[in-house]
Amino acid sequence: MSAQKLPAPMARPALVAEDPQIAALVEAEEARQREKIRLIPSENYVSRAVLEATGTVLTNKYSEGYAGKRYYEGQQIIDQVETIAIDRAKSLFGVDHANVQPYSGSPANLAVYLAFLNPGDKVMGMALPSGGHLTHGWGVSATGKWFTPVRYGVRAETGRVDMDEVREIALAERPKLIFCGGTAIPRTIDFEAFASIAAEIDAVLVADIAHIAGLVAGGAHPTPVGHAAVISTTTHKTLRGPRGAMLMSTEEHAAALDKAVFPGLQGGPHNHTTAAIAVALREAAAPEFKDYAAKIVSNAATLAGALTERGFDLVSGGTDNHLILIDLTNKGIAGKPMAKALDRAGLVVNYNTVPDDPRKPFDPSGIRIGTPAVTTRGMGTAEMTAIAGWFDRVVTAANSGDEADLDQIGKEVKELTAGFPVPA
Ligand SMILES: *Cc1c(COP(=O)(O)O)cnc(C)c1O
Repeated sequence: MSAQKLPAPMARPALVAEDPQIAALVEAEEARQREKIRLIPSENYVSRAVLEATGTVLTNKYSEGYAGKRYYEGQQIIDQVETIAIDRAKSLFGVDHANVQPYSGSPANLAVYLAFLNPGDKVMGMALPSGGHLTHGWGVSATGKWFTPVRYGVRAETGRVDMDEVREIALAERPKLIFCGGTAIPRTIDFEAFASIAAEIDAVLVADIAHIAGLVAGGAHPTPVGHAAVISTTTHKTLRGPRGAMLMSTEEHAAALDKAVFPGLQGGPHNHTTAAIAVALREAAAPEFKDYAAKIVSNAATLAGALTERGFDLVSGGTDNHLILIDLTNKGIAGKPMAKALDRAGLVVNYNTVPDDPRKPFDPSGIRIGTPAVTTRGMGTAEMTAIAGWFDRVVTAANSGDEADLDQIGKEVKELTAGFPVPA
């Protein structure tokens, strides 16, 4: 708290002196993150400790290779940092093996392809418009261009994955790799069902838990451990660490994954990030993180209920996790203008496709929201109810071009956020 009372430039005297232009922008972004209600489900606020770890001299060190087997000297300290991060990941998730070097979620997934497939081999993943990720074989991604993608989606009527359909496609196409998980899935992922399908065709199952890693770590979503041979995750979403990623696996696949990350795909690991990942993993192992994960889910349920009461049409009818997908068709507004109006009103979301969306991906029918960031700030039931009320007003204001009310909501949002300090 005492650090928070310092005027922001005082915290970065060298940056302010050296590059006032960038320093001012950083300060402006701090204000934006403080004054707005951030509902993008892949975003969060890291702790002061995580932030401090990322801003260290560990960024000065090259350390290609792995602890004890490096290509550069001077690894006395870095080897310890990386080993601690790995041990904490193994203990938190209960896995045999962890690689903490992937630069981010997308390169982590590319390393999985490199470990198990040859160019042209078949990979099965959820279609992007249904909630899958680009790196699960979508056409514009290298993973869709260099490999042969096979896709499953969600049933339009239920908004949910139909596991019988997944099995049918898998048996007919026999992909070597199956991805489960995604970026816009409001429901629990059935890792066990995916695992039994993968076993039938001898495919490697990859659980991409980028979005839900913090929920899994905190016991608020079932774990893929014991079902998926490979687990891929980012570290910066619900897990609340720095931007980065991890690959975890059974002992069987450890060597192949390590070799794929380095030297297969990457050069030197980002050691300052590794340190911050270690800090975040320590935080995620603390008892309070279980409460955090549970609160993310209960806040999302409260918000979903309040939105439903106000006539918003939620894909799949609600949520099991941190994420809510809203089909705005019945509100007479598309996703993009709604997202823009909400931003003006101080509520930050992203527009998103909905299942079987009749509109174009760049101008879709829905928006995607989530509760990880607001929960980190300590918001609860009253605030979720207020957010649903503001959503309703924003629809009316946007549909009637009432910019004054959008600005008025922005003021009310700013007042509310003043009562919920941001961690860093
Ligand atoms: C966010 C995300 C990724 C990619 O992470 P980046 O760090 O943005 O590259 C991969 N898979 C899923 C499911 C994600 O949600």
